[in-house]
Amino acid sequence: MNNQPILNKYWSSVCRHIDPYVPGEQPKGTKLIKLNTNESPYPPSPRVLEAIRNAASEDLRRYPDPFSDELRKAAADYYGIGLKQIFVGNGSDEILAFCYLAFFNPGERILFPDITYSFYPVYSKLFGIPYKEVALTRDFYVPIREFMTDNHGIIIPNPNAPTGRFLDTDSLLTMVNYNLDCGKVIIVDEAYIDFGGDSLISFINRFPNLLIVHTLSKSRSLAGLRIGLAFGSEGLIEGLFRIKNSFNSYPLDRLAIAGAAEAFRDREYFEETRGKIIRTREWIEKELAKIGFIVIPSKANFLFVAHKNVSAADISSKLREREIYVRHFKKPRIDNYLRISVGSDEEMEFLLKNLREILGAYKG
Ligand SMILES: *Cc1c(COP(=O)(O)O)cnc(C)c1O
Repeated sequence: MNNQPILNKYWSSVCRHIDPYVPGEQPKGTKLIKLNTNESPYPPSPRVLEAIRNAASEDLRRYPDPFSDELRKAAADYYGIGLKQIFVGNGSDEILAFCYLAFFNPGERILFPDITYSFYPVYSKLFGIPYKEVALTRDFYVPIREFMTDNHGIIIPNPNAPTGRFLDTDSLLTMVNYNLDCGKVIIVDEAYIDFGGDSLISFINRFPNLLIVHTLSKSRSLAGLRIGLAFGSEGLIEGLFRIKNSFNSYPLDRLAIAGAAEAFRDREYFEETRGKIIRTREWIEKELAKIGFIVIPSKANFLFVAHKNVSAADISSKLREREIYVRHFKKPRIDNYLRISVGSDEEMEFLLKNLREILGAYKG
């Protein structure tokens, strides 16, 4: 894509005016170190691959189960909740899109943080939902009082992206409770919750306005399979099914359902890989601090860092020359930060070695 949009006379006004979400770069090549889109450095569970191979059978001539019951049952067992409290979609991005249609109204303003997942404003514009970006504090904390104001819905990622900061359960529940009284839905996007935060899933029975969104893209090494889940009261889940069935009856294919269900059944592999990522993160956090980075404490599989002397833009472009990709958002307030995905220990060693060389050149 180039920066100058070519207007086409056949486009609708929505198509003309939307600013599409820009996904992190997916460079081709095998040598490069890819730390820019928070994928897992580890392969999916061997049991998942086996399940997908088994599903690649002549049954593919048949439509998949429109309710993805096998997957929803596996997730219900894993989390100890009811089948009717789970929705699944083609990536959590699709579920978030359905949420806009299911729970928000055009003309009624919703809230989300100013520094957050950049898909939220895109969907807001796509679906004509006005929004207010609530400013995080200087240190990227969520000011919960600011979310306890007049609103028609809230979306909040926890841990937040791209900062990695985790918001404690009590603060979130205070917001959920406030919104319960005013009859609005609060969506907590827990894309990174498996890396050390506490999920709010156990509170869905208590708060009928609480919707939790998860993805298998990060902690279960399945970004390529496109699986998202939502957990909430039966009423909210039914609302999502109404929208899905008005859009695409079969968002998950047979291979995806089989593989994702197995990912929930293979608990051991999941515990092992997420444990490794958490340990690597805790180690690399300290190493980055030693070479002059300010590191925001993270409960995600990435670190949000700024260097005391060298600009993020410089570091990012120097790393690129060495075929190491990290994410640099050229946005107000965060343009001196880099978001670095936690890779394997070897990848992190290689990153540190290159950072030391790059930063060393600035000392003179
Ligand atoms: C990665 C990410 C998602 C998207 O996940 P998919 O399931 O791959 O669509 C959603 N929300 C946040 C905050 C993310 O970082």
